[in-house]
Amino acid sequence: MKILVLNCGSSSLKYQLIDMEDESVLAKGLCERIGIEGSKLTHKVPGKDDFELETAMPDHAKAVQLVFDALTDKEHGVIASVDEIGAIGHRVLHGGPKLTESCIVDEHVKKVIRDCFDLGPLHNPANLTGIEACEKVVPGKKNVAVFDTTFGMSLPEKAYYYAIPTEYYEKYGIRRYGFHGTSHTFVSHETIKFGHLDPEKAKVIVCHLGNGASISASIGGKGVDTSMGLTPLEGLIMGTRSGDVDAAVVQFICNHEHKTVDEVLNILNKKSGVLGMSGVSSDFRDVEKAAEEGNHMAEVALDAFRYRVAKYIGAYAAAMNGVDAIAFTAGVGENDKKTRKLIVEQYLGYLGAKIDDKRNDVRGKEALISSDDSKVKLFLIPTNEELAIARDTLRLVEA
Ligand code: AMP
Repeated sequence: MKILVLNCGSSSLKYQLIDMEDESVLAKGLCERIGIEGSKLTHKVPGKDDFELETAMPDHAKAVQLVFDALTDKEHGVIASVDEIGAIGHRVLHGGPKLTESCIVDEHVKKVIRDCFDLGPLHNPANLTGIEACEKVVPGKKNVAVFDTTFGMSLPEKAYYYAIPTEYYEKYGIRRYGFHGTSHTFVSHETIKFGHLDPEKAKVIVCHLGNGASISASIGGKGVDTSMGLTPLEGLIMGTRSGDVDAAVVQFICNHEHKTVDEVLNILNKKSGVLGMSGVSSDFRDVEKAAEEGNHMAEVALDAFRYRVAKYIGAYAAAMNGVDAIAFTAGVGENDKKTRKLIVEQYLGYLGAKIDDKRNDVRGKEALISSDDSKVKLFLIPTNEELAIARDTLRLVEA
């Protein structure tokens, strides 16, 4: 079966068509600037030149139509008709406390996604728009919603409740949900498979280190804890997000800078992290270059980033009473051997974790990077959220 995976943002739409026979990507692409001037579709087919189309996309329905047109185009297409697509898997940010697993979309599911608009104000409206666009353009085709919050829904109560009055959970669903859930589920399972670990009992920590960064603990692939919270702001230091801060910082900046809470939250989400600390960039490569050139705060930002990762690894090793494997993934985790080496060598000696320099000299492919005498296995495991969504979609439509 061929599965189309869609990831809709407020003005963009990313897609991949995956042949589930061998999990190969038949085509992928991106619609940009939907609803604004200068809309463009870029369609990529392995072994062929990229196809680019600049045409008006007033809404997501038009963008979805253009994606189907590109996929079935005589010259640039990869399928003869949309009938070849078995189902469509949608990345949806927030399922709230009610939708705890991926599911086939019906009216109830759409209502819950809508009810969660205030929990995921930037993403959920766009995700629902994408689903409704598919219903309009290819009626009758099954749509599956795969939530970024699913991994966090298996957390135990002691991990997901905030220590605030329970009425706020009861009234508004305020709890830790966690994000990058599709990635944490995928990478923890791949780690178990690739590392030949016990599928029921393996204690795995996944470090998803990209522009957005989060870390998770799981036993047998089931979530035990995760660092992002009600929103993706909590946890690690990220490209532009602060991660953990004392909530009183918000009040302090509001009072002293005469800003609203929304304005300060915007600063914590978009102007903080390694960007805010270094003043250089949110891109780790730029910050590393600045640090090498002697920029002190760039060095401190990277140091603090690694330190925070190490503190969470320590906390999660304690949460699981041990750890069998630590996996690095996403942009920094998959490409930056220096960061991996420093985290392990500076902070994880007490766990008996040892990195092997030669094995660690690797990028973007599954690899064991620890030495044979390491007490904790260390891995590089590339994340693949699209494939994870396609697998879930296939599982549900075949059930
Ligand atoms: P992601 O959000 O997973 O796409 O990751 C993006 C981040 O990965 C950016 O901050 C990049 O600077 C970082 N990244 C990509 N390649 C490298 C590299 N070779 N060394 C350090 N950081 C990298």
